[in-house]
Amino acid sequence: MIKEMVKHRFPGLKYLFHLNRDGLIILDVESVQKTAICPYCGYPSSRVHSYHIRKFHDLPYEGNELLVRLHNKKFFCENKNCSHTTFVEQFDFISPAEKKTDRLIDEILSAYNDSSSRETAFSLKETGINVCKATVCNLKNKYS
Ligand SMILES: [Zn+2]
Repeated sequence: MIKEMVKHRFPGLKYLFHLNRDGLIILDVESVQKTAICPYCGYPSSRVHSYHIRKFHDLPYEGNELLVRLHNKKFFCENKNCSHTTFVEQFDFISPAEKKTDRLIDEILSAYNDSSSRETAFSLKETGINVCKATVCNLKNKYS
Protein backbone atom coordinates (compact mmCIF):
# COMPACT_ATOMS: atom_id res chain seq x y z
CA MET A 1 0.00 0.00 0.00
CA ILE A 2 2.60 2.51 1.05
CA LYS A 3 4.70 1.54 -1.99
CA GLU A 4 1.77 2.48 -4.22
CA MET A 5 1.55 5.85 -2.48
CA VAL A 6 5.26 6.43 -3.10
CA LYS A 7 4.79 5.65 -6.80
CA HIS A 8 1.89 8.06 -6.94
CA ARG A 9 3.20 10.95 -4.92
CA PHE A 10 6.90 10.77 -5.68
CA PRO A 11 7.55 9.97 -9.32
CA GLY A 12 11.23 9.08 -9.75
CA LEU A 13 11.65 7.83 -6.18
CA LYS A 14 11.83 4.28 -4.91
CA TYR A 15 10.46 2.96 -1.61
CA LEU A 16 13.17 1.65 0.76
CA PHE A 17 11.46 1.12 4.11
CA HIS A 18 9.26 2.83 6.66
CA LEU A 19 8.49 2.95 10.37
CA ASN A 20 5.26 3.92 12.08
CA ARG A 21 5.75 5.46 15.50
CA ASP A 22 2.51 6.47 17.18
CA GLY A 23 0.97 8.24 14.23
CA LEU A 24 4.22 9.40 12.66
CA ILE A 25 5.40 7.56 9.56
CA ILE A 26 9.08 7.87 8.77
CA LEU A 27 9.54 6.89 5.14
CA ASP A 28 12.91 6.30 3.49
CA VAL A 29 13.09 6.70 -0.28
CA GLU A 30 15.79 7.11 -2.88
CA SER A 31 15.95 8.41 -6.39
CA VAL A 32 16.00 5.90 -9.26
CA GLN A 33 17.39 8.31 -11.82
CA LYS A 34 20.93 7.54 -12.96
CA THR A 35 21.52 10.93 -14.49
CA ALA A 36 20.51 14.43 -13.50
CA ILE A 37 20.62 17.80 -15.21
CA CYS A 38 22.88 20.44 -13.71
CA PRO A 39 20.59 23.35 -12.75
CA TYR A 40 23.41 25.85 -13.39
CA CYS A 41 24.36 24.91 -16.95
CA GLY A 42 21.87 22.29 -18.20
CA TYR A 43 24.43 19.52 -18.76
CA PRO A 44 23.42 15.96 -17.87
CA SER A 45 25.65 14.08 -15.45
CA SER A 46 25.81 10.51 -14.17
CA ARG A 47 28.85 10.82 -11.89
CA VAL A 48 27.63 10.61 -8.31
CA HIS A 49 29.66 12.66 -5.84
CA SER A 50 27.88 11.67 -2.61
CA TYR A 51 24.59 11.03 -0.86
CA HIS A 52 22.94 12.88 1.95
CA ILE A 53 19.62 12.54 3.77
CA ARG A 54 17.13 15.27 3.01
CA LYS A 55 14.18 15.33 5.39
CA PHE A 56 10.85 16.88 4.52
CA HIS A 57 7.17 16.61 5.37
CA ASP A 58 4.38 15.64 3.01
CA LEU A 59 0.60 15.29 3.27
CA PRO A 60 -0.48 12.76 5.90
CA TYR A 61 -0.84 9.14 4.86
CA GLU A 62 -3.98 7.43 6.19
CA GLY A 63 -4.19 10.00 8.97
CA ASN A 64 -0.55 9.63 9.99
CA GLU A 65 1.94 12.48 9.86
CA LEU A 66 4.45 11.74 7.09
CA LEU A 67 8.15 12.51 7.37
CA VAL A 68 10.18 11.56 4.32
CA ARG A 69 13.91 10.81 4.46
CA LEU A 70 15.14 11.14 0.91
CA HIS A 71 18.55 9.64 0.15
CA ASN A 72 19.48 12.56 -2.06
CA LYS A 73 22.28 12.32 -4.63
CA LYS A 74 24.87 14.94 -5.33
CA PHE A 75 26.45 14.82 -8.77
CA PHE A 76 29.64 16.16 -10.30
CA CYS A 77 28.93 18.59 -13.12
CA GLU A 78 30.90 17.31 -16.10
CA ASN A 79 30.85 20.58 -17.99
CA LYS A 80 34.28 22.16 -17.55
CA ASN A 81 32.85 25.60 -18.29
CA CYS A 82 30.21 25.41 -15.56
CA SER A 83 30.49 27.74 -12.58
CA HIS A 84 29.71 24.82 -10.23
CA THR A 85 31.60 21.55 -9.78
CA THR A 86 28.73 19.71 -8.05
CA PHE A 87 24.96 19.97 -7.77
CA VAL A 88 22.19 18.23 -5.83
CA GLU A 89 19.38 16.53 -7.75
CA GLN A 90 16.05 18.33 -7.48
CA PHE A 91 12.44 17.17 -7.73
CA ASP A 92 9.19 18.67 -9.02
CA PHE A 93 7.21 18.14 -5.83
CA ILE A 94 9.43 20.27 -3.57
CA SER A 95 11.36 23.53 -3.91
CA PRO A 96 15.15 23.39 -3.41
CA ALA A 97 15.39 24.75 0.15
CA GLU A 98 11.94 23.76 1.42
CA LYS A 99 11.18 21.36 4.28
CA LYS A 100 7.64 20.74 3.00
CA THR A 101 6.31 19.48 -0.33
CA ASP A 102 4.44 21.92 -2.56
CA ARG A 103 1.15 20.04 -2.02
CA LEU A 104 1.53 20.21 1.76
CA ILE A 105 2.14 23.96 1.58
CA ASP A 106 -0.95 24.32 -0.64
CA GLU A 107 -3.00 22.35 1.87
CA ILE A 108 -1.87 24.52 4.78
CA LEU A 109 -2.53 27.73 2.86
CA SER A 110 -5.99 26.61 1.77
CA ALA A 111 -6.85 25.66 5.36
CA TYR A 112 -5.85 29.16 6.43
CA ASN A 113 -8.55 31.02 4.51
CA ASP A 114 -10.31 33.33 6.97
CA SER A 115 -9.30 31.65 10.21
CA SER A 116 -6.39 32.70 12.39
CA SER A 117 -2.99 30.96 12.33
CA ARG A 118 -3.77 29.39 15.68
CA GLU A 119 -7.13 27.98 14.50
CA THR A 120 -5.56 26.77 11.27
CA ALA A 121 -2.78 24.93 13.10
CA PHE A 122 -5.37 23.39 15.42
CA SER A 123 -7.66 22.15 12.64
CA LEU A 124 -4.73 20.84 10.58
CA LYS A 125 -3.52 18.81 13.53
CA GLU A 126 -6.74 16.79 13.43
CA THR A 127 -5.96 15.75 9.86
CA GLY A 128 -2.41 14.63 10.70
CA ILE A 129 -0.63 17.82 9.63
CA ASN A 130 1.51 18.89 12.55
CA VAL A 131 2.46 22.56 12.22
CA CYS A 132 2.68 25.33 14.77
CA LYS A 133 1.02 28.72 14.56
CA ALA A 134 4.30 30.41 13.60
CA THR A 135 4.85 28.05 10.68
CA VAL A 136 1.37 28.76 9.32
CA CYS A 137 2.11 32.47 9.65
CA ASN A 138 5.49 32.21 7.91
CA LEU A 139 4.08 30.21 5.02
CA LYS A 140 1.29 32.70 4.55
CA ASN A 141 3.73 35.61 4.43
CA LYS A 142 6.00 33.76 2.04
CA TYR A 143 3.47 32.44 -0.47
CA SER A 144 0.46 34.76 -0.49
ZN1 LIG B 1 26.91 22.56 -14.55
